[in-house]
Amino acid sequence: PSLFESVELAPRDPILGLNEQYNADTRAGKVNLGVGVYYDDGGRLPLLQAVRKAEIARLDAAAARGYLPIEGIAGYNKAAQTLLFGAGSPLMASGRVLTAQALGGTGALKIGADFLKQLLPNSRVVISDPSWENHRALFERAGFPVDTYPYYDAASHGLDFAGMLAGLRALPEQTIVVLHACCHNPTGIDPTFEQWQQIVQVVKDRNLVPFLDIAYQGFGDGLEEDASVVRLFAEHDLTMLISSSFSKSFSLYGERVGALTLVSSSKEEATRVLSQLKRVIRTNYSNPPTHGGTVVSTVLNTPELYTLWATELAGMRERIRSMRIQLVEKLKEHGVKQNFDFVLKQRGMFSYSGLTAPQVDRLRDEYGIYAISSGRICVAALNTGNIDYVAASIAKVLA
Ligand code: PMP
Repeated sequence: PSLFESVELAPRDPILGLNEQYNADTRAGKVNLGVGVYYDDGGRLPLLQAVRKAEIARLDAAAARGYLPIEGIAGYNKAAQTLLFGAGSPLMASGRVLTAQALGGTGALKIGADFLKQLLPNSRVVISDPSWENHRALFERAGFPVDTYPYYDAASHGLDFAGMLAGLRALPEQTIVVLHACCHNPTGIDPTFEQWQQIVQVVKDRNLVPFLDIAYQGFGDGLEEDASVVRLFAEHDLTMLISSSFSKSFSLYGERVGALTLVSSSKEEATRVLSQLKRVIRTNYSNPPTHGGTVVSTVLNTPELYTLWATELAGMRERIRSMRIQLVEKLKEHGVKQNFDFVLKQRGMFSYSGLTAPQVDRLRDEYGIYAISSGRICVAALNTGNIDYVAASIAKVLA
């Protein structure tokens, strides 16, 4: 008998399934708002100029492809820390921070989860309700039970802050709390800075373990602004984990560029922690790949490329903001009575639009517009060519 006879067919990934359906759709005006990537105004996935220049430089240098150190490229890791804590950070100077290059934000979360499982085998993990759909599966696969804390309030299209705070307060000590440091996926709703100040206090008082996930730095209010939550946690002298993803900010989805950063309480402790993290990496994939890491490191460490990148990132951020404004305006123009101003307050690539699952079905079946059944739309997939059609179609399903 086959070894694999009893293997059951796993359920399809819901978002990838939606993409397959979209690709098979033959209607000319179809629009895919289900994706989690940034498209430019022409509907194309951009290759950033800063990335292209760094790649050309790399090819010209004809560098050999030896193994990287287990924790990756030193200059990459330092630059990832600088994005989080700011240039001249005293925390970085103290030697308490350690970073490992990782296979995207997902890879950073996974090596962080494996490391935590070894350290806190009996802890639980909590994620926001809702959260990025891979958070639960990833931490469960690392061996943790995963619960949620309240987050989204459908009635106000906003944050259930009282519920969130009460939920966090009720957690046992050393519960691992996954927090989206900016541009919450899937809702687009972030706590205000004043609310974060209360959250950090609860995390501290209750001795919780913060795991900050920052996958959209630069897509909210700016590179520095979007790091303010990470810096707030650092100011409170918390030991914590942070997963960074550069997939969106460099438009390098397929290169798997991310980083895991740990803030420890002393330089000596950091040395021990890094030695254990390296064992986790070594037994998973040995060491990270060279290309994406070198490109990102070159951009971040070359002043002129950094400036170019920051400008291109600002362009992506501003285009998304302009799409939010136009969506709200055009919905009004097309006669929608409901108030959609909450879309303007949301940050990052996504919007919980408030559309119901049957409305999402109608958008797809009648108009060829694909969104997630939760009502999540990717604002970064709107453009000047499709926004009028999208707004008109939403108006029809709302009428
Ligand atoms: N965390 C969040 C909140 C995300 O939205 C994503 C990507 N969709 C990731 C992590 C993973 O990023 P990457 O593609 O770099 O693995």
